[in-house]
Amino acid sequence: RAKELGRNQYCLYDHALAGMVNNRLEIENQLRYALSRNEFLLHFQPKVDAKTRKIIGAEALIRWNSPERGMVSPVEFVPVLEETGMILEVTQWVITEACRVLKAWHQQGLMVQLAVNLSAMDFRQQDLVDQINTQVSNFGIEPRWLELEVTEGVLLDDLQRTSEMLSAFKREGYKISLDDFGTGYSSLSYLKRFPLDCLKIDRSFVRDIPSDQNDVALVNAILAMASSLGLVVVAEGVEELAQVEFLSEKGCDYFQGYFFSKPLSESDFEVLLRADA
Ligand code: C2E
Ligand code: MG
Ligand code: MG
Ligand code: MG
Repeated sequence: RAKELGRNQYCLYDHALAGMVNNRLEIENQLRYALSRNEFLLHFQPKVDAKTRKIIGAEALIRWNSPERGMVSPVEFVPVLEETGMILEVTQWVITEACRVLKAWHQQGLMVQLAVNLSAMDFRQQDLVDQINTQVSNFGIEPRWLELEVTEGVLLDDLQRTSEMLSAFKREGYKISLDDFGTGYSSLSYLKRFPLDCLKIDRSFVRDIPSDQNDVALVNAILAMASSLGLVVVAEGVEELAQVEFLSEKGCDYFQGYFFSKPLSESDFEVLLRADA
């Protein structure tokens, strides 16, 4: 009986596994057509100045509007794009789209920055700097309006190469942000080694302030360190007034989170920007 049960469980597990593998292959296949079928879009989440409470920019966040699956979160498909190498083409699309939107806003006098997310694999392309430069100059945008967000994982992929490439971006005038700060495995010495402009405190540290004393201590330490290194700080995942008040008092420079706005479509973001101007 036990054996039978065991066998059944094994079958069930096997079945579930097969289902997972199938689903993954299906996502992969559907993603192969997503670019040419125009299924990707960008949403924009405001970044707000802690002092003036004005929108100073946005982060571009990719969405996949799949005919089969509906709106898919990047948490589900960006890893697949990265594992298959499709991310390279998609990043180029993101940059083009970000430049187009940024240019449109600037032409209307809405002078904001726009941040895009780059993956480790993007930095394995030696001509990444040239590719982005070409697009930015084709649109007639000054690099200082474009911000490049990288995670600690990107930095660690190949220390020498990424630091050289980030220095090249920095020389051109791009802003560089370290995303999800505190969740990776990088050492603090990297904060000096890489030419960073900004730290984005991961939302896992923001969530339980000001009540969790450990998180309060960590956030205080990050803010003090950033300030002495001349880095600006963005708090991610700000959802509550108490977080805004605490972070403002401690000298955090910018906020991003549902308290101010969820990521919005291009047109909704424009409406918000005009109302905020
Ligand atoms: P991220 O770069 O750290 O982006 C912030 C994520 O936090 C976004 O999730 C955003 O919607 C979410 N968020 C913002 N405010 C709040 C809040 O107050 N509460 C909560 N609970 N969440 C909040 P999203 O859009 O699902 O993106 C997830 C991740 O996918 C991004 O994390 C980024 O790592 C990746 N990603 C998004 N777009 C791109 C892209 O174009 N290229 C690459 N390589 N990765 C991307
Ligand atoms: Mg980001
Ligand atoms: Mg982040
Ligand atoms: Mg994240």
